[in-house]
Amino acid sequence: MTRTLAVLAGIWFFASLLMLGAAWLAVSGGPFAIVVLTTLFSGLTGLVASVWLFDRRLLVPIRRLADHVRLEHDFTSTSRQVPPDLTSRSDAVGLLARQLQKLIEESRSYNAALLEQTLNDPLTGLGNRRLLESRLNMLVPLSRRLSCTVSAMMIDVDHFKAFNDHYGHPAGDACLVDIAGVLRDTFRRETDVVVRLGGEEFLVLLIHTGKEEAWALADAMRGMIQALGLPHEYSPVAEVVTVSVGVVTSPNGLLIDIDDMIAHADQALYDCKAHGRNQVAARVIGVEQTAQAFRPSTESTA
Ligand code: GH3
Ligand code: MG
Ligand code: MG
Repeated sequence: MTRTLAVLAGIWFFASLLMLGAAWLAVSGGPFAIVVLTTLFSGLTGLVASVWLFDRRLLVPIRRLADHVRLEHDFTSTSRQVPPDLTSRSDAVGLLARQLQKLIEESRSYNAALLEQTLNDPLTGLGNRRLLESRLNMLVPLSRRLSCTVSAMMIDVDHFKAFNDHYGHPAGDACLVDIAGVLRDTFRRETDVVVRLGGEEFLVLLIHTGKEEAWALADAMRGMIQALGLPHEYSPVAEVVTVSVGVVTSPNGLLIDIDDMIAHADQALYDCKAHGRNQVAARVIGVEQTAQAFRPSTESTA
């Protein structure tokens, strides 16, 4: 709009000058007036051409770069390139466009690294509580809409304090990393959420996974952790590192409350600990009541 007004004002100004000159020429008619008019005309033509070129070659590209920056800011999730006809230019605009592209790419990768840091546990590389919350915002409405089962597992390393006390904190850290590896290998679906809640506690959230399947997965994972054979000679449970797992399942169509589920999974975990550790306990939360199916891991099927 401003640009159109400026162009119109320029044309009006240019035309007025020409008409003024023509009137003067008609009145005076002298050769001096012709020379002045011709100079004025060519000068003005040059000025208009320069303004037009300046606008096309400099202002328009700068405006496009500004638009690009605005889009980049408003739609951060969409990756886009600075227009190639600008980056390929050999003049100052090209230099500016290339620098801008570089800056945008650097800031994108910096932001991605930052996001990774805020959502991941630095020790194990698994998600952290913040990742859990962000996934829940998506998974809970989705599971409600699809009326599918959701299972949550609370995993806790048995007698980990004794492990730390005897083998040292760095060995404890390495043990947590190995356990995280088993979790990562076991729960591979895109919708699986695997996080380290803190200390030696992990949480796994599985949608569209019923009690039997969740129990079987939990027990397989428990067996794999035992099979890692990480020595734990101070554990009263086994000679190697073991875990206990509390599993809770919310059946089809039931409106789930994730805090409720975690509390029930915690309760199931507590039952495992009370029954000797290195096992899986499964529960189903129903509408009327919470039915617990405690099952030692020595049983092979549901
Ligand atoms: P239980 O079988 O009942 O779970 O006993 P536990 O000893 O595993 O449980 P407790 O809660 O008493 O001890 C947990 C220990 O985990 C305490 C602390 O030494 C250790 N720990 C917590 N966070 C970390 C960590 O990031 N790295 C290491 N190496 N150890 C940790
Ligand atoms: Mg614990
Ligand atoms: Mg423990």
